[in-house]
Amino acid sequence: MTRTVYVNGQYLPEHEATVSIFDRGFLMSDGVYEVTSVLDGKLIDFDGHCVRLSRSLSELEMAAPCSNETLLEIHRELVRLNDITDGMIYLQVTRGNPGDRDFAYPAEDTPPTLVLFTQSKPGLADAPVAKVGWKVISVPDVRWGRRDIKTTQLLYPSMAKMMAKKVGADDAWLVEDGMVTEGTSNNAYIVKGKRIITRALSTDILHGITRAAVLRFAAEAQFEVEERNFTIAEAQDADEAFITSATAFVMPVVEIDGTALGTGKPGSVTARMRELYLDEMRKAAI
Ligand code: PMP
Repeated sequence: MTRTVYVNGQYLPEHEATVSIFDRGFLMSDGVYEVTSVLDGKLIDFDGHCVRLSRSLSELEMAAPCSNETLLEIHRELVRLNDITDGMIYLQVTRGNPGDRDFAYPAEDTPPTLVLFTQSKPGLADAPVAKVGWKVISVPDVRWGRRDIKTTQLLYPSMAKMMAKKVGADDAWLVEDGMVTEGTSNNAYIVKGKRIITRALSTDILHGITRAAVLRFAAEAQFEVEERNFTIAEAQDADEAFITSATAFVMPVVEIDGTALGTGKPGSVTARMRELYLDEMRKAAI
Protein backbone atom coordinates (compact mmCIF):
# COMPACT_ATOMS: atom_id res chain seq x y z
CA MET A 1 0.00 0.00 0.00
CA THR A 2 1.39 3.41 -1.00
CA ARG A 3 1.59 5.78 1.92
CA THR A 4 -0.63 8.83 1.72
CA VAL A 5 0.93 11.95 3.21
CA TYR A 6 -0.30 15.49 3.81
CA VAL A 7 1.33 18.60 2.32
CA ASN A 8 -0.17 22.08 2.51
CA GLY A 9 -3.82 21.17 2.23
CA GLN A 10 -3.45 18.07 0.04
CA TYR A 11 -3.45 14.33 0.71
CA LEU A 12 -1.04 12.80 -1.80
CA PRO A 13 0.79 9.52 -2.51
CA GLU A 14 4.23 9.96 -0.86
CA HIS A 15 6.10 10.05 -4.21
CA GLU A 16 3.96 12.98 -5.40
CA ALA A 17 4.48 15.12 -2.29
CA THR A 18 7.03 17.92 -2.73
CA VAL A 19 8.37 20.96 -0.90
CA SER A 20 10.35 23.80 -2.53
CA ILE A 21 14.17 23.85 -2.43
CA PHE A 22 13.77 27.40 -1.03
CA ASP A 23 11.76 26.19 1.93
CA ARG A 24 13.22 27.62 5.16
CA GLY A 25 12.93 24.19 6.73
CA PHE A 26 15.28 22.74 4.12
CA LEU A 27 17.75 25.67 3.99
CA MET A 28 17.79 26.82 7.63
CA SER A 29 16.20 24.07 9.77
CA ASP A 30 13.68 26.85 10.36
CA GLY A 31 10.93 24.53 11.44
CA VAL A 32 9.33 22.80 14.39
CA TYR A 33 7.80 19.37 14.71
CA GLU A 34 5.74 16.98 16.82
CA VAL A 35 5.46 13.21 16.85
CA THR A 36 2.20 11.76 18.12
CA SER A 37 1.82 8.06 18.83
CA VAL A 38 -1.11 6.03 17.59
CA LEU A 39 -2.26 3.00 19.61
CA ASP A 40 -5.29 0.96 18.51
CA GLY A 41 -5.97 3.59 15.84
CA LYS A 42 -6.23 6.41 18.40
CA LEU A 43 -4.04 9.43 19.11
CA ILE A 44 -2.09 9.50 22.35
CA ASP A 45 -1.98 12.85 24.21
CA PHE A 46 -2.97 14.86 21.12
CA ASP A 47 -3.81 17.96 23.20
CA GLY A 48 -0.39 17.91 24.84
CA HIS A 49 1.29 17.94 21.43
CA CYS A 50 -0.93 20.82 20.24
CA VAL A 51 -0.07 22.93 23.29
CA ARG A 52 3.67 22.36 22.79
CA LEU A 53 3.45 23.02 19.04
CA SER A 54 1.75 26.38 19.71
CA ARG A 55 4.49 27.25 22.18
CA SER A 56 7.30 26.26 19.78
CA LEU A 57 5.69 28.36 17.02
CA SER A 58 5.20 31.41 19.20
CA GLU A 59 8.76 31.26 20.61
CA LEU A 60 9.99 31.46 16.99
CA GLU A 61 7.41 34.07 15.92
CA MET A 62 6.13 31.61 13.36
CA ALA A 63 2.53 31.59 12.17
CA ALA A 64 0.31 28.65 13.05
CA PRO A 65 -0.59 26.79 9.84
CA CYS A 66 -4.19 26.09 10.90
CA SER A 67 -6.40 25.54 13.94
CA ASN A 68 -5.94 22.62 16.33
CA GLU A 69 -9.32 21.28 15.18
CA THR A 70 -8.00 21.10 11.61
CA LEU A 71 -4.80 19.45 12.84
CA LEU A 72 -6.90 16.82 14.60
CA GLU A 73 -8.89 16.18 11.41
CA ILE A 74 -5.67 15.76 9.39
CA HIS A 75 -4.19 13.35 11.96
CA ARG A 76 -7.37 11.27 11.95
CA GLU A 77 -7.64 11.28 8.17
CA LEU A 78 -4.03 10.07 7.82
CA VAL A 79 -4.68 7.28 10.33
CA ARG A 80 -7.74 6.28 8.30
CA LEU A 81 -6.18 6.56 4.83
CA ASN A 82 -3.08 4.60 5.85
CA ASP A 83 -4.97 2.11 8.01
CA ILE A 84 -2.69 2.71 11.00
CA THR A 85 -3.33 0.59 14.08
CA ASP A 86 -0.09 1.33 15.95
CA GLY A 87 2.57 3.80 14.93
CA MET A 88 3.17 7.50 14.86
CA ILE A 89 2.30 10.66 13.00
CA TYR A 90 5.11 13.09 12.23
CA LEU A 91 4.10 16.74 11.85
CA GLN A 92 6.40 19.53 10.69
CA VAL A 93 5.73 23.24 10.29
CA THR A 94 8.33 25.47 8.64
CA ARG A 95 8.52 29.20 7.98
CA GLY A 96 7.66 28.39 4.38
CA ASN A 97 9.09 29.27 1.01
CA PRO A 98 10.12 32.91 0.45
CA GLY A 99 11.34 32.09 -3.09
CA ASP A 100 15.01 32.77 -2.28
CA ARG A 101 17.61 32.35 0.50
CA ASP A 102 18.03 35.08 3.11
CA PHE A 103 18.91 35.09 6.82
CA ALA A 104 16.15 37.59 7.57
CA TYR A 105 12.72 36.09 8.13
CA PRO A 106 10.46 36.38 5.07
CA ALA A 107 7.43 38.67 4.86
CA GLU A 108 4.77 37.76 7.40
CA ASP A 109 2.29 36.77 4.71
CA THR A 110 4.61 33.93 3.53
CA PRO A 111 2.49 30.85 4.19
CA PRO A 112 4.03 28.26 6.54
CA THR A 113 4.69 24.79 5.14
CA LEU A 114 2.75 22.02 6.85
CA VAL A 115 3.73 18.38 6.29
CA LEU A 116 2.43 15.28 8.06
CA PHE A 117 3.10 11.62 7.44
CA THR A 118 2.44 8.34 9.21
CA GLN A 119 4.87 5.63 10.30
CA SER A 120 3.27 2.25 10.84
CA LYS A 121 4.74 0.32 13.82
CA PRO A 122 2.56 -2.68 14.61
CA GLY A 123 2.89 -3.65 18.28
CA LEU A 124 4.59 -0.34 19.17
CA ALA A 125 3.64 -0.64 22.84
CA ASP A 126 4.86 -4.27 23.04
CA ALA A 127 8.40 -3.69 21.75
CA PRO A 128 10.51 -6.61 23.08
CA VAL A 129 13.33 -4.18 24.01
CA ALA A 130 11.14 -2.79 26.80
CA LYS A 131 11.63 -6.13 28.62
CA VAL A 132 15.42 -5.92 28.27
CA GLY A 133 16.08 -2.18 28.55
CA TRP A 134 18.48 0.18 26.83
CA LYS A 135 22.20 0.61 27.20
CA VAL A 136 23.25 4.26 27.05
CA ILE A 137 26.55 6.10 26.81
CA SER A 138 27.25 9.66 27.91
CA VAL A 139 28.39 12.32 25.46
CA PRO A 140 28.88 16.09 25.83
CA ASP A 141 25.77 18.17 25.18
CA VAL A 142 26.84 20.71 22.57
CA ARG A 143 23.36 21.65 21.33
CA TRP A 144 22.07 25.21 21.17
CA GLY A 145 20.59 26.98 24.20
CA ARG A 146 16.86 26.76 23.36
CA ARG A 147 16.26 23.03 23.65
CA ASP A 148 12.77 23.77 25.00
CA ILE A 149 11.72 24.61 21.43
CA LYS A 150 11.09 21.47 19.40
CA THR A 151 12.99 22.50 16.27
CA THR A 152 14.09 20.30 13.38
CA GLN A 153 17.79 21.06 14.10
CA LEU A 154 18.49 17.43 14.93
CA LEU A 155 22.00 16.95 13.60
CA TYR A 156 23.77 16.68 16.96
CA PRO A 157 21.18 14.33 18.50
CA SER A 158 21.56 12.25 15.35
CA MET A 159 25.38 12.26 15.69
CA ALA A 160 25.07 11.28 19.36
CA LYS A 161 22.74 8.40 18.42
CA MET A 162 25.38 7.17 15.96
CA MET A 163 28.14 7.43 18.63
CA ALA A 164 25.97 5.16 20.77
CA LYS A 165 25.25 2.70 17.96
CA LYS A 166 28.94 2.45 17.03
CA VAL A 167 29.74 1.08 20.50
CA GLY A 168 26.73 -1.23 20.64
CA ALA A 169 24.58 1.03 22.85
CA ASP A 170 20.98 2.09 22.23
CA ASP A 171 21.18 5.80 22.96
CA ALA A 172 23.27 8.60 24.44
CA TRP A 173 22.63 10.73 27.51
CA LEU A 174 23.84 14.28 26.99
CA VAL A 175 25.94 15.89 29.71
CA GLU A 176 26.50 19.59 30.32
CA ASP A 177 28.55 21.06 33.20
CA GLY A 178 28.80 17.55 34.63
CA MET A 179 25.01 17.07 34.75
CA VAL A 180 22.75 14.95 32.55
CA THR A 181 20.41 17.10 30.48
CA GLU A 182 18.40 14.44 28.57
CA GLY A 183 18.68 11.67 25.99
CA THR A 184 19.07 12.29 22.26
CA SER A 185 15.29 12.25 21.81
CA ASN A 186 13.91 11.56 25.26
CA ASN A 187 13.92 12.74 28.88
CA ALA A 188 16.15 10.96 31.42
CA TYR A 189 15.29 9.68 34.91
CA ILE A 190 16.90 7.78 37.74
CA VAL A 191 15.16 5.88 40.55
CA LYS A 192 16.34 5.55 44.16
CA GLY A 193 14.00 3.46 46.30
CA LYS A 194 10.54 4.96 45.64
CA ARG A 195 11.97 8.30 44.47
CA ILE A 196 11.96 9.26 40.79
CA ILE A 197 14.53 11.93 39.94
CA THR A 198 14.60 13.95 36.72
CA ARG A 199 16.01 17.28 35.64
CA ALA A 200 13.70 20.28 36.19
CA LEU A 201 12.19 22.08 33.20
CA SER A 202 14.20 24.97 31.73
CA THR A 203 15.53 26.01 28.34
CA ASP A 204 18.15 23.21 28.75
CA ILE A 205 15.74 20.38 27.87
CA LEU A 206 12.68 19.64 25.80
CA HIS A 207 9.53 19.76 27.90
CA GLY A 208 8.46 16.20 27.18
CA ILE A 209 4.76 15.55 26.80
CA THR A 210 5.40 12.05 28.15
CA ARG A 211 7.45 13.50 31.03
CA ALA A 212 4.50 15.63 32.16
CA ALA A 213 2.12 12.66 32.10
CA VAL A 214 4.56 10.26 33.79
CA LEU A 215 5.33 12.69 36.63
CA ARG A 216 1.59 13.20 37.19
CA PHE A 217 0.92 9.44 37.31
CA ALA A 218 3.99 8.88 39.51
CA ALA A 219 2.71 11.35 42.12
CA GLU A 220 -0.77 9.77 41.99
CA ALA A 221 0.80 6.33 42.52
CA GLN A 222 2.56 7.63 45.67
CA PHE A 223 6.05 7.69 44.19
CA GLU A 224 8.12 10.65 45.30
CA VAL A 225 9.15 12.93 42.44
CA GLU A 226 12.28 15.05 42.69
CA GLU A 227 13.05 17.50 39.89
CA ARG A 228 16.77 18.17 40.06
CA ASN A 229 20.02 17.65 38.19
CA PHE A 230 22.02 14.43 38.51
CA THR A 231 25.41 13.23 37.33
CA ILE A 232 26.33 10.12 35.37
CA ALA A 233 28.05 8.76 38.52
CA GLU A 234 24.83 9.16 40.54
CA ALA A 235 22.87 7.50 37.74
CA GLN A 236 25.29 4.55 37.63
CA ASP A 237 24.77 4.13 41.37
CA ALA A 238 20.95 4.39 41.18
CA ASP A 239 18.57 1.44 41.61
CA GLU A 240 16.96 2.00 38.22
CA ALA A 241 16.90 4.42 35.32
CA PHE A 242 14.56 5.05 32.43
CA ILE A 243 13.73 7.44 29.64
CA THR A 244 10.43 8.75 28.35
CA SER A 245 9.28 9.85 24.92
CA ALA A 246 6.05 9.88 22.96
CA THR A 247 7.14 6.87 20.90
CA ALA A 248 9.24 4.82 23.38
CA PHE A 249 6.77 5.61 26.24
CA VAL A 250 8.66 4.56 29.41
CA MET A 251 11.81 2.63 28.46
CA PRO A 252 14.12 1.05 31.06
CA VAL A 253 17.83 1.93 30.99
CA VAL A 254 19.95 -0.92 32.36
CA GLU A 255 23.51 0.18 31.60
CA ILE A 256 25.30 3.55 31.52
CA ASP A 257 28.82 3.83 30.05
CA GLY A 258 29.32 0.08 30.50
CA THR A 259 28.18 0.02 34.15
CA ALA A 260 25.11 -2.10 34.88
CA LEU A 261 22.48 -0.51 37.11
CA GLY A 262 21.24 -2.51 40.09
CA THR A 263 20.57 -6.04 38.90
CA GLY A 264 21.24 -5.11 35.27
CA LYS A 265 17.59 -5.82 34.50
CA PRO A 266 14.66 -3.40 34.12
CA GLY A 267 13.47 -2.35 37.57
CA SER A 268 10.03 -2.64 39.17
CA VAL A 269 9.37 1.12 39.49
CA THR A 270 10.12 1.57 35.79
CA ALA A 271 7.89 -1.38 34.86
CA ARG A 272 5.08 0.05 37.00
CA MET A 273 5.43 3.50 35.41
CA ARG A 274 5.38 2.02 31.89
CA GLU A 275 2.24 0.03 32.70
CA LEU A 276 0.52 3.02 34.35
CA TYR A 277 1.42 5.35 31.50
CA LEU A 278 0.20 3.01 28.78
CA ASP A 279 -3.02 2.11 30.63
CA GLU A 280 -3.95 5.70 31.39
CA MET A 281 -3.01 7.09 28.00
CA ARG A 282 -4.87 4.38 26.10
CA LYS A 283 -7.97 5.25 28.13
CA ALA A 284 -7.62 8.95 27.26
CA ALA A 285 -6.68 8.41 23.57
CA ILE A 286 -8.88 10.14 20.98
N1 PMP B 1 13.92 15.42 24.69
C1 PMP B 1 14.22 15.51 23.40
C2 PMP B 1 15.50 16.16 23.01
C3 PMP B 1 13.36 14.97 22.43
O1 PMP B 1 13.67 15.06 21.12
C4 PMP B 1 12.18 14.32 22.85
C5 PMP B 1 11.24 13.68 21.87
N2 PMP B 1 10.95 14.45 20.79
C6 PMP B 1 11.89 14.26 24.22
C7 PMP B 1 12.79 14.83 25.12
C8 PMP B 1 10.64 13.60 24.73
O2 PMP B 1 9.52 14.38 24.46
P1 PMP B 1 8.09 13.71 24.28
O3 PMP B 1 7.82 12.94 25.53
O4 PMP B 1 7.16 14.86 24.15
O5 PMP B 1 8.16 12.85 23.08
